Amino acid sequence: MLQLFIPLGFLGIVYRQIKYALADMDLIFKLLDRKPEIQDRPEAPSLALREGGIRFEHVDFHYQPERQILHDLDFSIEPGQTLAVVGHSGAGKSTLSRLLFRFYDVSGGRILIDGQDVRTVSQESLRAAIGIVPQDTVLFNDSIYYNLVYGRPDASRADIERAAEMAHIRTFIESLPDGWETVVGERGLKLSGGEKQRVAIARAILKQPRILVFDEATSSLDSRTEQAIQQTLSEVAENHTTLIIAHRLSTVVDADRILVMEQGRIREQGTHRALLESGGLYASMWELQQREGVDERLPSGRSA
Ligand code: ADP
Ligand code: MG
Repeated sequence: MLQLFIPLGFLGIVYRQIKYALADMDLIFKLLDRKPEIQDRPEAPSLALREGGIRFEHVDFHYQPERQILHDLDFSIEPGQTLAVVGHSGAGKSTLSRLLFRFYDVSGGRILIDGQDVRTVSQESLRAAIGIVPQDTVLFNDSIYYNLVYGRPDASRADIERAAEMAHIRTFIESLPDGWETVVGERGLKLSGGEKQRVAIARAILKQPRILVFDEATSSLDSRTEQAIQQTLSEVAENHTTLIIAHRLSTVVDADRILVMEQGRIREQGTHRALLESGGLYASMWELQQREGVDERLPSGRSA
């Protein structure tokens, strides 16, 4: 291992770096429940990040060859814009975010960030450019402070407190007997789904990446907290290239563009208003959510 060759005096610093690096990998593989298979090409350069434009170019994908999941997906997210992806469970939405983060490689086509194929750049630089609030957040068995700061080790205490505040989790943290030092995770304090989501949102705010991905990021929050955080997320997303994956349509009405996915294909795309007017799948999903009260969280008076 690397450490064996490092002079003793450096161990402190290196340990910190290794711990952060491992934490990231740990998180990634926990999220994936799989072993690392994606390797950097030899001498892979860092992503030369500019405005953070994203392009999926005729992307096909399968997890197993006998079952194709994504079919010829072709779309772009202009720098600074917000694209929402909606569709029923199993449509392939989370798979998009996994491919962008290069947990897997595409089976056909390409994914480009600022014109660079994600397979050609180092994974470290790719992942530094993207902040994900995943569907299920994994916490490390470590202090809640560490769980927040690991994405940006150089963050100051003030930055961390501010991020926690924006994610509506600071008051909760400071009310715990051990405060910021409270150990969370499997062997520590178990946080609720909503608390974990707010930790993940604070992480993303702290990391300040060029590209943000929210994968059903507010699905476990109660309606009041969700509305408050939705506001924060819109502010955070401003001037960032943002991919919002959502099951609940009320969270995407303000997106610059909405893709409607069905069984791994793009069925429709447009703004909320245009999609409602065209009376297709999106319009019927919207109708259904309104009627069934799936969307009871929608603030009253807000409509198309
Ligand atoms: P969504 O986020 O829209 O609910 P996903 O992208 O998670 O959908 O999944 C799309 C399809 O891919 C589903 O049919 C799911 O069962 C399948 N799938 C997801 N992850 C894996 C995996 N690791 N191995 C095999 N199939 C998977
Ligand atoms: Mg999903």
